[in-house]
Amino acid sequence: MDILISGASVAGPALAYWLHRAGHQVTLVERAPAMRDSGYAVDFRGDAFDVLEQMGVLAEVRAHDTGMRGIDLVDAEGVKTGELPAEAFAGELEVPKRDLTAILHRLTAGDVRYVFGDSIRTLAQDETGVHVTFERGEPGTFDLVVGADGVYSTVRRLAFGPHREFVRHLGMSGVGFTTDNYLGLDHRGVLHSAPGRAVYLFSAADADRMTVSLSFATESSELDLLDRGRQEEIVRAGLSDAGWEVPRLLKEMTAAQDFLFSSACQVEMDRWYAGRVVLVGDAGYCAAPTSGMGTSQALIGAHTLARRLAESGGDHTAAFSAYEQRVRPYVAANQQHGREAAKMFGAG
Ligand SMILES: Cc1cc2nc3c(=O)[nH]c(=O)nc-3n(C[C@H](O)[C@H](O)[C@H](O)COP(=O)(O)OP(=O)(O)OC[C@H]3O[C@@H](n4cnc5c(N)ncnc54)[C@H](O)[C@@H]3O)c2cc1C
Repeated sequence: MDILISGASVAGPALAYWLHRAGHQVTLVERAPAMRDSGYAVDFRGDAFDVLEQMGVLAEVRAHDTGMRGIDLVDAEGVKTGELPAEAFAGELEVPKRDLTAILHRLTAGDVRYVFGDSIRTLAQDETGVHVTFERGEPGTFDLVVGADGVYSTVRRLAFGPHREFVRHLGMSGVGFTTDNYLGLDHRGVLHSAPGRAVYLFSAADADRMTVSLSFATESSELDLLDRGRQEEIVRAGLSDAGWEVPRLLKEMTAAQDFLFSSACQVEMDRWYAGRVVLVGDAGYCAAPTSGMGTSQALIGAHTLARRLAESGGDHTAAFSAYEQRVRPYVAANQQHGREAAKMFGAG
């Protein structure tokens, strides 16, 4: 089959790998001009390790382990009040996201077609396939289209409905960026959490840099769609009375090259497929960063979808249904955990 995947981060390239191995022709369209250079780290738990192993990249991924040793809990004056083990945030293995996506891209780049700097504009499906137009490229017809394009999935919007129907806000938003490691953190994190806000700082892979995460209570995930200037104002307002390192960190935020604003939200859908269109990863079932399961879900979802397609003998409806039945209980448990953990990060 000729299959189009929208989104080249984790779920998209992982799915492309399995589909190519099963003999399909795969095109990946990614809106960013190149693989994204995200500043934060992602972790893996459970069956995701088997998927990485079967893809032949587990050792390579392990080589990027951030090697976190633990997290100090501090009060508003920076005085230590307790400690958390590294696994609390880092799972069984944690790597910078940019390293994971670079590995997945390298693994697939020779076998599937990557189109960067473009996006699907329209989708129309009939019994012959899905007719797709793009923002920039030439139109095409595909047997299947997969949305692996994250929480604000364009494929989901076009094939299922507007974001507000599916994106559930968990009551907090945050900004992430890196700055000089002026606290001298060495494979350690520091967490200051108070009602309605949390500040988490860590340094691992690059000893000179410190990753900053500032989160606070908010009422809508739509803030993610605002421009950076407006988002910075919202962060400053949300943390205006916070002490400790926050005033300095707010100044560093303005200078940051890798500013990323995102809200803790989940994607909840009754059905992950519509005709020849199917969703995988955050696009269909984001569990929120607070679950620590998004990357594992993306890998397991991609693997399961490709496997069910291979077993279905070309019946994509049966394959999509079997994929959803298999992955949905796992997602439900992760989403439950994501909601509970959001409270610890200051969700209102
Ligand atoms: C701050 C933060 C911290 C996180 N921490 C963790 C963690 O510790 N552990 C963990 O497991 N998970 C974590 N996550 C979640 C994790 O990053 C995601 O769950 C995971 O990346 C999902 O992968 P995905 O491929 O489904 O979607 P994404 O990684 O969101 O990728 C979607 C891709 O689609 C592209 N795209 C978007 N729109 C279009 C379009 N119209 N056309 C083409 N391409 C498009 C995007 O550019 C992007 O490359 C965190 C997320 C954030 C924001």
